[in-house]
Amino acid sequence: MAAPLSDPASAYHEVVARIARAAQASGRDPAAVALVAVSKQQPWEAVAPVLAAGQTAFGENRVQEAMARWDGRAEGLTLHLIGPLQSNKAREAVAFFDVVESLDREKLARALADEVQKQGRRPRIYVQVNTGEEEQKAGIAPGAADAFITACRDVYGLPPEGLMCIPPLDEPPGPHFALLAKIAARNGLSGLSMGMSGDFETAIAFGATSVRVGSAVFGQRD
Ligand SMILES: *Cc1c(COP(=O)(O)O)cnc(C)c1O
Repeated sequence: MAAPLSDPASAYHEVVARIARAAQASGRDPAAVALVAVSKQQPWEAVAPVLAAGQTAFGENRVQEAMARWDGRAEGLTLHLIGPLQSNKAREAVAFFDVVESLDREKLARALADEVQKQGRRPRIYVQVNTGEEEQKAGIAPGAADAFITACRDVYGLPPEGLMCIPPLDEPPGPHFALLAKIAARNGLSGLSMGMSGDFETAIAFGATSVRVGSAVFGQRD
C-alpha cells in the first residue's frame, strides 16, 4: 500500500519494521537484508524526510535524473543505478554510482570496464536477469546468465557481487525469486537484489539480501 506523501518518515519506519519481521519469519538476520529506497521520480519533499530519518542507500533508474537530484548531496550515501543503462552513459554511471544493478550485456560490460580502467573507480556490480524472459524487459536471459557472469569476471574484470531481477507484473513472483537465487548459488554469488513494494516480504523469504522499495516508502510516483 502506498503511504500518504505527507508522512514518508513513518512509512519508511514501517517498511524497515516489515523487512525485519519478514527476515525473522524466515530465520534470517534482519541486518542481512538491505533496504534500497527507490527515490526515482519522487519530489524532494518526499525524499528529504527519509534521508533525515537515516536512510543511506537510494535507488534511481535514470542517470541524468539521479545526477541532478543527488549531485552535492551524495556524501555518505550509497547510490544504486537500478534502471537500464545505455553504453554511451557508462562514463557518468561509473563516475556517479556506487552500485550498478543493471549490467545485462557484453557491450555494456565492455563500456563499464573501459571506464573503470580510465577512472580508477569501481562501482559494485549486479547482473540483471530477465527471469520471465519478457521481450520488453532488460536483463540477460536465464539460459545465458552463467556464461555472461563468467565473462564479467574473466574477460571484463567486473566480478559481480550478485544478481538482480524484476519479475513479470502478472505472475506470482516466488518462482522468479527462486530462479534468481538458484542462478546466483551455482555461480557463487551472494547478493540477491529482489523484491519491490508489492513483494519484498516474499523476496526476503526467498533469500533477498537487498530489496528495492519505492512507493511503499515515498508514496505513489507522479
Ligand atoms: C521503480 C523500481 C522499483 C521500486 O518500485 P516500487 O513498486 O515503487 O517499490 C524497484 N526496482 C526497480 C528496478 C524499479 O525500476
